[in-house]
Amino acid sequence: MLAKFDRYPLTFGPTPIEKLSRLAAHLGGGVEIYAKREDCNSGLAFGGNKLRKLEYIVPDAIKSGADTLVSIGGVQSNHTRMVAAVAAKIGFKCRLVQESWVPHEDAVYDRVGNILLSRIMGADVQLVDEGFDIGIRQSWTDALEDVKAKGGKPYPIPAGASVHKYGGLGYVGFAEEVRAQEKEQGFAFDYIVVCTVTGSTHAGMLVGFAADGRERKVIGIDASFTPAQTKAQVLEIAQRTAELVELGKPITADDVVLVEDYAYPAYGVPSAKTKDAIRLTAKLEGMITDPVYEGKSMQGLIDLVKKGYFPKGAKILYAHLGGAPALNGYAYAFRNG
Ligand SMILES: *Cc1c(COP(=O)(O)O)cnc(C)c1O
Repeated sequence: MLAKFDRYPLTFGPTPIEKLSRLAAHLGGGVEIYAKREDCNSGLAFGGNKLRKLEYIVPDAIKSGADTLVSIGGVQSNHTRMVAAVAAKIGFKCRLVQESWVPHEDAVYDRVGNILLSRIMGADVQLVDEGFDIGIRQSWTDALEDVKAKGGKPYPIPAGASVHKYGGLGYVGFAEEVRAQEKEQGFAFDYIVVCTVTGSTHAGMLVGFAADGRERKVIGIDASFTPAQTKAQVLEIAQRTAELVELGKPITADDVVLVEDYAYPAYGVPSAKTKDAIRLTAKLEGMITDPVYEGKSMQGLIDLVKKGYFPKGAKILYAHLGGAPALNGYAYAFRNG
């Protein structure tokens, strides 16, 4: 589905699929749980899902003649860390707007983890006092103008690389990769569980898995706490991406399965249950998830398994999208383990 699009390789290649036997047994042994380790996908600054998207965006950035990647996220954004790494790798400058999307309790929240890495990689990091919003922001358009005013040539990458025209392509590729791995393994997954915020990861998967009729088997776990906006953005990106790759069948609102129950109390703030899910996965599998994204999708996976959402014997693929560096901004929450 992607042969006609330019791709700039930023990842190691197909990501491994790991069986989480101890977690599945702990949850009663009724289902099989696997993790596709997108968190281990690259040597670029600890990797993560944004690289798969950026592989289809970088060729356009290079072609445009730009010299500065400009993007936006929260203070502990994984996405902006990835943009900083990519800028370093391709020899661009990098301008990042980091907004106050998360009310936090750690004194060093804006010094450690993702933002620390972005600074080390040479990004020009600007802290802005604005709340959470996955849409296009004034602060970001201001940054683009500022780069221009100073003689630079900006290339805009929106939050999460999601509403970029090519933002959905990377995770269409994910679905194709899973299909190839399923052939090798001799079995197919019944469900794919994915954390959803700015939407193009979920949207790309939806389009990719629609090719074999599994679009409604992609279970998005909302971590935005603004699910109506996130759901609408997933649909919009999926429809645009379906057209781009010539899917040949319509994507409708009913195809977007988004579970809204686990994003509380706010974007970026872990509930007690989120922290329990992070500890459980770490203790049983040595697999690290974070308080903003994967901890919430893991909490959702665990709860849905416990509730019997998945039929007995189901094979579930949990997409581990990265995000561990943010944990450094949450040291207080885990001060006793
Ligand atoms: C960005 C991100 C997500 C959410 O992906 P979207 O495409 O923005 O919905 C989930 N997990 C991690 C670790 C992320 O960095």
